[in-house]
Formats: sequence, structure tokens, C-alpha cells
Amino acid sequence: MSVDAADTPAITAEAAQDRAAPASPAPRHELAAVDPATAPTSPAAPASAAAEALVVGGLQPFTTIDYPGALAAVVFVQGCPWRCGYCHNPQLQPRVKPAEAAGPGWAALRPWLARRVGLIDAVVFSGGEPTLDPALPAAMAEVRAIGLKVGLHSAGIYPQRLAAALPLADWVGLDLKAPPADDTAHDRVTGVRGSAAALRRSLALLAASGVAHECRSTIHPALHDDAALLAMADALAAAGVADWALQICRPPKGSTLAPVGAGWPAAGLVERLRARCARLILRDPA
Ligand code: SF4
Repeated sequence: MSVDAADTPAITAEAAQDRAAPASPAPRHELAAVDPATAPTSPAAPASAAAEALVVGGLQPFTTIDYPGALAAVVFVQGCPWRCGYCHNPQLQPRVKPAEAAGPGWAALRPWLARRVGLIDAVVFSGGEPTLDPALPAAMAEVRAIGLKVGLHSAGIYPQRLAAALPLADWVGLDLKAPPADDTAHDRVTGVRGSAAALRRSLALLAASGVAHECRSTIHPALHDDAALLAMADALAAAGVADWALQICRPPKGSTLAPVGAGWPAAGLVERLRARCARLILRDPA
């Protein structure tokens, strides 16, 4: 498959390094706004008024790394209530889109996505925390209706909303920020007290859903010692999660986190983690 560059909507120069990886061992993303004046129009996509309420914070028109094995576009949904110290997309944290990020919403993306059918395989909803947005299920349903797969990145912040979205998802990447049973460690990463409870419920829902998935962790030695990483591996094995993607934190500008030195985590620890996981995936630093 290839993408016709001439058909890609105009992109602003705004860029971001990453979604938490997403809240996540999120792979690197560029954030971009679609220029409504240049977004192609097509009546092909089924429209729903509910989907048009989606607060779109940006678009990655083409990616090979955000949905395993698929060529995808990424729609970044605005808003996240957590405040991870390594978040590379702080502009997506406020629910109200910053004025400088103003751009078209779902109504402008809909016809553009319809024209991508046959050129990309999937649309990934990322963020921010996409399940925060009540319009997410309607937008996911529209993507399904035009024949594209639906990917979802989530930090598991809203378990009930994740449960509602799972039947509409073909693949989910769930962030695991700390050992699920360690409330203090989880709160230290998210900056929000009590955040681990939501993750625990979301992890259980996802593992039981039958939807293809992976868990993803952005790791830093100041946040994750050896025992924490081993506990995370054990928790995923106990939950029945086979795929765990690790990404070493690349602290954003202004972060209190120090750069991570080469050689961490040590090879011996990686082997111990690998022994606990069905599939341990090491990704480039986030
Ligand atoms: S603050 Fe929100 S968007 Fe940023 S890394 Fe954390 S969960 Fe992800």
C-alpha cells in the first residue's frame, strides 16, 4: 500500500514528540492540524451528528508504528486528566483545545478518511485520553462503517467508557505506568491520587474482551526500579496479557526527570522480564 502525498491534507508546523505514550510507551507522533480549506471532500463516509462532537486535537496522516502490522492514520483526541511527568503531549491535556491548535474537527476528517480507504488499513484514536470524549464510540463506528480497522490507545482512565469502546475496536494499546497493585507508584507517575484503581479495572476488561491488544510502558529508572518492572511483568502475565512493549523514557524539555543513560535497563533484567512475558517488545525511546 502507498499513500498519495498529494492527497494528504495540509499540515501545520506544530509537532509533538510523543503521546504518553500515551501516556505510553507511545511511539513518536507528530501532531498536526488539518487545514479545512484543503481537506478533500467526499460524501462517501456515513455521517453521525454524535461523532462530530469529537474534540480532535491533531492528526498523524500516516504511520506504520501505531497499529501493529497496519498502515494507519492517528486521530488525537483532546483532553486528559492525568499529569504524567514524561508526557510529550501536554497540549492535549486540557479538554478545551488551545487556540493555537484550532483546526477542523471530525466533520472535516470524515471525508478525508473516506478517501484513505484502500490506502491505509486503520484509524487509531489516541490522545490525550480518547475515552474521555463521549463522541468516541460514534467516531469509531464511522471508521468501521467505511471499512477501516479501529485502533485505540488508552491509559485506562475511564474503565466504563473503555468497556463501551471495546466492541468497536480491532486493537487496543493500553498503557501500564507502574505495577497495577502499587497505588503509590502509579500515582507518582500520573500525578493523580487513586489512578491505579481505574487502570486495574481497565486491564481486566481488556484482557477479558477478546480484542487484540498490547500493554505499553514508558519506563525511567527514577520511576521504575527492578522490582517494579518485574512486578509489572508478573501482573501482565497474571492478567493474561501476552504482548508488553517497553519504551525507555526520553524526558521532555523542562522535565525534572534526568536523561536515561545507555545500558539501562541492564541486559540481565531484560532477560528476567522476557522470561515472564510471552512477548516482550523493546521500542525506541519515547
Ligand atoms: S498526561 Fe495523559 S496524555 Fe500525557 S502521558 Fe499521561 S496519560 Fe498520556
